[in-house]
Amino acid sequence: MNKYIKVVVDVPVARVDKMFDYQLPTDLVNQTKVGQAVKVPFGRRQVTGFIVAIGETPAIEASKIKKIKNIMQAEPFFDKKMLSLYKWIASFYHSYLIQVIKAAIPYGAVRGKVNKKTIQCITLAQSEEATKQIIKELSNRAYKQQAVLKYLLANNETDLTITELAKRVETTSGTVYRLIEKKYLKYYNKDERRKPSFHGKSAKNSFKLTKFQENAVANINQNLANNKFGVFLLHGVTGSGKTEVYIRLLEKNLQKKQGAILLVPEIALTPVMVGKLLARFNDEIAVLHSNLSSGERYDEWCRLKDGKASIAVGARSAIFAPVKDLGLIIIDEEHENTYKQTEYPPYHARQVAVKRASEEDAVVVLGSATPTIESSYLARKDKFKLLELPERIYQAEMPPVLVVDMREELKEGNFSIFSNKLKSEIEKTLARNKQVLLFLNRRGFASFYLCRSCGHVIECNHCDISLTYHTNPDRLVCHYCGYQVNTPHKCPVCASKYIKPFGLGTQRITDEIEASFPEANVVRMDADTTTRKGSHQKILNRLADGGIDILIGTQMVAKGHDFPAIELVGVIAADTSLSLPDFRSSERTFQLLTQVAGRTGRGDKQGKVIVQTYQPDHFSIQAAAEHDYNSFYEKELSIRKDLNYPPFSRLVNLTVQGLAENQVEKVADQLAVFLHNYKNHYQELLGPVPAPLAKVRNKFRWQIVLKFENGAKREYVIQKLEENFLPVSYQQVELRIDVDPWQML
Ligand code: ADP
Ligand code: ZN
Ligand code: ZN
Repeated sequence: MNKYIKVVVDVPVARVDKMFDYQLPTDLVNQTKVGQAVKVPFGRRQVTGFIVAIGETPAIEASKIKKIKNIMQAEPFFDKKMLSLYKWIASFYHSYLIQVIKAAIPYGAVRGKVNKKTIQCITLAQSEEATKQIIKELSNRAYKQQAVLKYLLANNETDLTITELAKRVETTSGTVYRLIEKKYLKYYNKDERRKPSFHGKSAKNSFKLTKFQENAVANINQNLANNKFGVFLLHGVTGSGKTEVYIRLLEKNLQKKQGAILLVPEIALTPVMVGKLLARFNDEIAVLHSNLSSGERYDEWCRLKDGKASIAVGARSAIFAPVKDLGLIIIDEEHENTYKQTEYPPYHARQVAVKRASEEDAVVVLGSATPTIESSYLARKDKFKLLELPERIYQAEMPPVLVVDMREELKEGNFSIFSNKLKSEIEKTLARNKQVLLFLNRRGFASFYLCRSCGHVIECNHCDISLTYHTNPDRLVCHYCGYQVNTPHKCPVCASKYIKPFGLGTQRITDEIEASFPEANVVRMDADTTTRKGSHQKILNRLADGGIDILIGTQMVAKGHDFPAIELVGVIAADTSLSLPDFRSSERTFQLLTQVAGRTGRGDKQGKVIVQTYQPDHFSIQAAAEHDYNSFYEKELSIRKDLNYPPFSRLVNLTVQGLAENQVEKVADQLAVFLHNYKNHYQELLGPVPAPLAKVRNKFRWQIVLKFENGAKREYVIQKLEENFLPVSYQQVELRIDVDPWQML
C-alpha cells in the first residue's frame, strides 16, 4: 500500500526546502501521482505542495505523520523526468526545489486561478434509431424541432454550441432549448483553446538551401535521426539564413513525430521569426510568453502536455515546456542576456537545455552571429560541434563600417553628440528617401568617468576595470577590489577639463535629431515607449511601411529585424558598454555592434554603418567594424586567460544584501573570513566590495567573487558555506549565490 508520500511545500521561509512526509487518506491511496499539487497541513496552516515521491519509507515515526488535505488538481504538473531536471537545477544553482517548480510550471493553474476553458456543446441524447422514432412522433407543428434532429442525424458535425446548431437549421435557440427540456438533446463540455492573437506578419517561403545551410542541416541531422545527444554551435553571420536551418530541422524532427523547443531572447522582439514558424507549422506550435494572459499561457502549455502541439516557442522559461518525446532544442541568439534568469533560481537556459537534452537523448542547436566566448571555446575543444554559415544569403556584402573618432570632433570644435560625418550621411540617406536607424548603447549609462578630449577612462590601479562614478559623496570606486578616488577635475593623461561622467538618453538624442531634421518622421523606440502591449510591433510595422524616416532606439532595435529600406545605421556611443565593471563588457560591446551593423545592407542596395566612439582603437570596436569574429575571439580569449576569467575559471558571485548597510558590510566581512578557511580550494577571492548596483530597492548589496579551477571545487566550498556559515549568519541579511554569474552587477 502506497500510503506515504513526500511533498515539497510552498512556504516563503528561507531554508524550508526539505521534503516532508505525509499520509494519504484511505480513499486516495494508489490514486496519486508524482507532480500532483496537494493541499497539506503545515504548522498551523494549510499550504500548497507538490508530490515528489510515493511509497517511500517515511523519515519520521508513523504516528507523527499528518494526512494531506486534498489533491488540488488531478492532472500532475510534472513527471519524474522533469522532476529530476528540477532537482538538478536546484542543486546546481543552489536554489530551492520549490522555486524551480514555480518557475517551471504555470503556477497560477495550481490554485485554480486559471483553468481550462470549456464550452457547452449539444448532441443527441439517444441512438439514431430512437431519434428517427422521435421525429415521427413529434407533431408536424414542431417541424423546426424535427429539422434540428434531422440535421444531427444527417450531418456528422460535432462540437456544436446551441447557437451554432440553431443557425445551421435557420431557427432560434429556443427550438434547441425545447429539445433539451424534452431530453432529446443533451449537453457535454468541450475544452476550448484560448488562442493567443499574434501581431507579427507571417510569410510562407521555401528556398533551396545554400551549401552552408545544407551542410549544417545534414550534420545536425546525423544526430537527430539517431536520437543521439549532441550540442551544435551554428555560427552564422547576420543574414546568413539561420532561421531556415531551424525550420528544416524542426521539419525533420516533426517527421519522426518528436517534439521540439525553440527559445528566442524575447517573443516581442522576434515577430518575424515567430511569424515564419507559425506560417510553416500552424497548430503544431505552442507559443509561450509573458504577454499572454495566464489563461492563454496555460492553454498553450496544456496543448504541449496533451500532445496536441509538439513545438514550444518561447523565451527562457520555455525550456521547461512539457514537450512530449523531446528530440530537438534550438536556442536562437544564444549569446543574449535574457537566457540567464536574475531572480531565483538563477539558471541559464543554455545550461538547462544541455542538461535536459542529454537526459532525453535530444539534440541542442545554439545559433548566433556572435557566439559567447564560452560556447566558441567549447566548440573549439570539441565539446560542442561548430557549424558555420560564413556568408550572407545571395552573398550580399557585409555593410562597410566607418569608425568616427569623437575626440577628433571635439578638437575641431564639434561639441554636439553627432559627428559631422553622421549628420551628412543622415542628410544623404533622407534625400534618397531611405531610412536611418540610430542606436544608442545605453548600457553603462552615466556610470563612468570619461575624458572627452583624449578618450581616457579612469580605471582602477589594481584591476583592469573602469571605476564607477558615485554621487553623494562624489567619488570613483572599483567594484572589484574597493579602491576609491575623488572625482578628478582634469584628465590625468591630457589635463583637459572636459572630463565628466558619461551617459546619454534616447530622449535627448531624439530632441536633437528633431531640431536638426525638422522634416523627418522621427520615432523613438526603447523601454519607455513600448510598455503597452503591441506598441513595439506597431512601431516595427510603421517602419516596414515607410512611415518612419529615422528610428532611434536602444538594445531593442539591434535584434533580428530585417528591413531592406534601412540604408544607414548610426551608433551614437559605441563605447559606453566597454566601461562597465564586468569582465564580459568587451564581449557585449562586440556583440551589440555586430548585431546592429547587421540591420543594414539586406536590400539590394548597400547599407552603411557609422560608429561613433571615443576609443576607436579598442579591439572590440575594430573587430566589429571589420566583421571579424575570429580576431575578436582570439584577443578576448587571451585576455580571459591572462586574468583567469571564464572559460578558464569557474566563478561564483556571492551577494550579501539587506536594509542596514553596516550589517550587510559586517556579514560580508565575516563571509570573507569564513571563506579564507578554504583558500586551498579557490584560486582567487575578489572583495568584499559594494556591488556595482550598490543599492537596489532600498537594499544594500556587497559582493564577493570567487574563482575556481573547476566546478567540483566550487561546489565543495559552496556546500561548506551552506552547512557552516549560513545557519549562523542569517540575521536580517540575505545571501544570494550566483553560480556562473552572467552579469557582475
Ligand atoms: P539570420 O537569422 O541568419 O540573420 P535570416 O534567417 O533572417 O538570417 O535570413 C535572411 C534572409 O534570407 C531572410 O529574408 C530569409 O527568408 C532569406 N533566406 C534564408 N535562406 C534562404 C535561401 N536558402 N535562399 C534564399 N533566401 C533565403
Ligand atoms: Zn584626457
Ligand atoms: Zn580594483
